[in-house]
Amino acid sequence: MSTRLEEQIRADIVEAGRRMYERGFVASNDGNISARLDERRLITTPKSVSKGFMTPDMMVIVDQDGRKLAGDRDPSSELPMHLEIYRNRPDVNAVVHAHPPNATGFAVAGIPLTRAVLAEVITTLGSIPIAAYGTPSTAELPEAVRKYIKAHDGMLLANHGAVTCGPSVMAAYYKMETIEHFARISLVARMLGGENLISREEVERLQGLRGMYGIAAPAPLCADPDAPGGDQVLCQVLEAPESTERLVPEVNAVLRQASRDGEIRLTYGELTALIADAVKNLRD
Ligand SMILES: [Zn+2]
Repeated sequence: MSTRLEEQIRADIVEAGRRMYERGFVASNDGNISARLDERRLITTPKSVSKGFMTPDMMVIVDQDGRKLAGDRDPSSELPMHLEIYRNRPDVNAVVHAHPPNATGFAVAGIPLTRAVLAEVITTLGSIPIAAYGTPSTAELPEAVRKYIKAHDGMLLANHGAVTCGPSVMAAYYKMETIEHFARISLVARMLGGENLISREEVERLQGLRGMYGIAAPAPLCADPDAPGGDQVLCQVLEAPESTERLVPEVNAVLRQASRDGEIRLTYGELTALIADAVKNLRD
């Protein structure tokens, strides 16, 4: 006999899966969703099933170590990643994993979504780092996720996808939507020449508003962005330049960095673009 709460959670997992599939966040049988039922039991999507066509009775109930307690099917092979998140985050009641194409594109390119550019992302998720590549279904993936999960509600998974968590199934799902939306906007802005960054002061003002919206802050910003340190990161790195202006063109951030340490740091992409530009000018 399932309780009303369990029935609601099963229905939410079905609904989140349907939206994930409909929005193209997953193909084929990709992705998985899980939720806490109580202190010792979790409920999760089964393996080898399209997330767009699940029914509430398909779900699998497992214990904290992933051993099956109930259900006709077997849990996803990515369940250990979910278990690692629950172990590290007592406040989290649900985990969503998908391969949304824009966010996954950033994950494949090795570009984290750590620039302060959108108010709603700054208030809800803060920064979105990339967990190191780990072979799917092995202990490598939980280990990679472990590094960031204490300070982040969402992260990219290198050459794989993204994972989000939250107090409920729909809250975790919405964070996945936010990440994908943010990735798409970042992509368009970069195609148009780059983002204007929100200043650090404005970021602090935005994060100060979290209480007003009832948003729990995942973690403070790192005092030293270059050395978040340790095998578990406890703060967030966010690219938000110090400025009296609230919006700062990205190029200024590069120059400011240069004037501070006497060197210019370029990403590989920026360097390649400069070289390509120089070669083109030579030819013209
Ligand atoms: Zn996956």
